[in-house]
Amino acid sequence: MAATKKPVKPDPMEARIRDYFERNYELLRMESGQVLTNDLKQEALNQVLFYYKKMKHVAENVTRTEVRLALPEQRTDRGRRFTIEGVVDVVQEGEETWLYDIKTHDPESVRQHPERYEQQLNVYAHIWQNLQRQPLHHTAIIATQYPKTMKQAWRSGDMAAFLFEFERWDPLIELPFDQQRLEETVQSFGEVVDRIEGKEFLPRSLEDLEGGGKRRFGTRVCRNCDARFSCKSYRAFARKRGVESSGVTKYFNDPPNDAEQNDWLEGNLDISA
Ligand code: SF4
Repeated sequence: MAATKKPVKPDPMEARIRDYFERNYELLRMESGQVLTNDLKQEALNQVLFYYKKMKHVAENVTRTEVRLALPEQRTDRGRRFTIEGVVDVVQEGEETWLYDIKTHDPESVRQHPERYEQQLNVYAHIWQNLQRQPLHHTAIIATQYPKTMKQAWRSGDMAAFLFEFERWDPLIELPFDQQRLEETVQSFGEVVDRIEGKEFLPRSLEDLEGGGKRRFGTRVCRNCDARFSCKSYRAFARKRGVESSGVTKYFNDPPNDAEQNDWLEGNLDISA
């Protein structure tokens, strides 16, 4: 006799995530005026759902979420006072305490460049252990972006390939903390404070934008920088790398004429109607 398949119970948390996502999207749309195409919106929702499925065990065990940590009364080399602040999640599992810093980055890039993250974790570990007098055993980054290979498998509809990639995906990267390097970290934060306060806002050089290993600085950092369209270095980088072909070139040239602007406006009004 053939076994009857039990219906899969829907996860109530998933329904809540969909609801929160929809509400957040509406809020952001109203605040920013930015509209996503249906495909992009679905992709964004997928990212949240996949992430929840993968990290469910951590999410369910979080003891304290969004813990604000502050290291006040620091001084820069030029005598300016500053405070370092950050937000972390804390999980206590049995005798062990984990401190997590959540980043919207690609896990592979975190694994390849742990030095970009260790400094911040060292500061958090110091505050947690020495100022707040709490036990700590592990520090880790949770990188929420899911890998390209997984995205491609999902888009192609190849479920076997997708499940294989999903299994391989590991967003949790443990990075041991090193209190010896704390002073060095605080000093480098101080240098940034001095530059900001001294209004030294020169952009990085084109060489810097092209450097940085597999994922260039210009792609990894500048792509998320609000000043990129008025930044000389980024314009040069974009032209050189052919970013124009992806449509960004219009921002570097003259503004569109009135007719084009009207088309854009009407298109957006249609979508939001
Ligand atoms: S685009 Fe932004 S981050 Fe990149 S060099 Fe210019 S100012 Fe700096």
